[in-house]
Amino acid sequence: MVSELTISAVDIIRKQREFFQTGKTKDVYFRIGQLKILKQAIIEHEQAITQTLKADLNKPEFETYAAEILVTKEIDYAIKHIQTWTKPQKAPVPLNFFPYSAKIYPEPLGVVLIIGAWNYPFQLTISPLVGAIAAGNCAIIKPSELAPHTSNLLAEIIPKYFDSRYIAVVEGGVETSQKLLAEKFDHIFFTGSTTVGKIVMTAAAKNLTPVTLELGGKSPCIVDTEINLEHTVKRIVWGKFINAGQSCIAPDYLLVDKKIKNNLVDILRKTLKEFYGDNPANSPDYARIINHKHFGRLVHFLKDGEIIIGGKTNSEELYIAPTIINNVSWTDPIMQEEIFGPILPIIEYSDITEAIALINSRPKPLALYLFSQNKNLQKRVLQETTSGGVCLNDTMIQFSVSSLPFGGVGDSGIGSYHGKASFDTFSHYKSVLQNSFLLDLNWRYAPYKGKLSLLKRLLG
Ligand code: NAD
Repeated sequence: MVSELTISAVDIIRKQREFFQTGKTKDVYFRIGQLKILKQAIIEHEQAITQTLKADLNKPEFETYAAEILVTKEIDYAIKHIQTWTKPQKAPVPLNFFPYSAKIYPEPLGVVLIIGAWNYPFQLTISPLVGAIAAGNCAIIKPSELAPHTSNLLAEIIPKYFDSRYIAVVEGGVETSQKLLAEKFDHIFFTGSTTVGKIVMTAAAKNLTPVTLELGGKSPCIVDTEINLEHTVKRIVWGKFINAGQSCIAPDYLLVDKKIKNNLVDILRKTLKEFYGDNPANSPDYARIINHKHFGRLVHFLKDGEIIIGGKTNSEELYIAPTIINNVSWTDPIMQEEIFGPILPIIEYSDITEAIALINSRPKPLALYLFSQNKNLQKRVLQETTSGGVCLNDTMIQFSVSSLPFGGVGDSGIGSYHGKASFDTFSHYKSVLQNSFLLDLNWRYAPYKGKLSLLKRLLG
């Protein structure tokens, strides 16, 4: 028998197209069955997933469970709602269209490609897969080569539970990704950087393939004075330093009201100690940087501004301590690109108008955080800024609420997913209008003589 891995991607796509044509994936019970199998596969491999994430990122078991394994919640949500999502929706038809009736039918797109990133390498490929399955598609997954242990594990697990004519994993780096992108898919779902997002969209345009781009950017975190300072700092430290800051929606930098900045820094110091001890290098709860290239990029940022907490690095261990930086300038490299690591610059403002203007002068972020109990301020920030999503008085948690579509806007992405949004992303909504043979009035047929005034009276 030819091994799965030696079959070329082109063959897999052809076989998936043939399988899709059988119509099997359109059956809602088939989809529910496959979602249950996917959940089972994850549960049965919980330990292996924990081990591979430890190997790729030194990810603590708690973080793997919370942010990777619990993708099973997305599966549960899809199973619970799929019967409603797949039902054709009646659409209203104006009275003068009598006896027409209208419905909207969701239908699968066909064969889709999912390209993943390395920071949550399991969850970021499985979560879109849940949407692809729920919507009735076949799928090819290309995990990130930068998290090789997780990529290998996905390539091992998926064929054990799914026929490659239905769901397949193709491993590889940029070259593999580019070869896949040259093929015709019915949808491409990409998670990664804004730079590569542009490459993906260019390749997709050649085949007129629709894309979802889940990208990154610099997500600001505004801290006002009307807060519970201890709670605020805990939530910021957790969201920034989980996975050693390598989260697309981690607070990238703080914009802090000048009046509370010193207090905030004191509590930051205390909280970091509580979370990770005197030397975070020895903490079992602190991840590592993915590779030397990203480590080097991050160490370079440490030259900007003034380090007030942390700053220690160890290249051999790919360790960068949780670091707080003061006095950065907007022209410093650290403020020019997404940090995507455990370094948090603090910028003070004396007037919120100034902070809002700064945010609006930059590309639209994926997430925006505001810590404030002041309703007027909340309203202002919501009205005067734009971002993929907003979380008030917390960080990161918005990602875990399945009823909230997750995605960017502008440079931070195109399209969204999670819950119903995942189903929508991988569906085509087909409009169907039906007439009956009850009557057939002549008002629209040629010859038109004498009918224009009737048309104007009826529809004008
Ligand atoms: P990346 O763009 O370097 O790589 C992502 C994927 O694209 C990988 O599978 C890789 O093999 C492939 N790829 C890389 N270069 C390519 C090329 N030239 N042509 C075709 N394919 C190519 O991103 P990354 O470093 O894996 O992830 C970090 C970025 O992803 C950050 O910007 C982060 O904010 C973003 N991100 C976004 C989300 C989200 O949900 N919006 C989630 C995680 C990460």
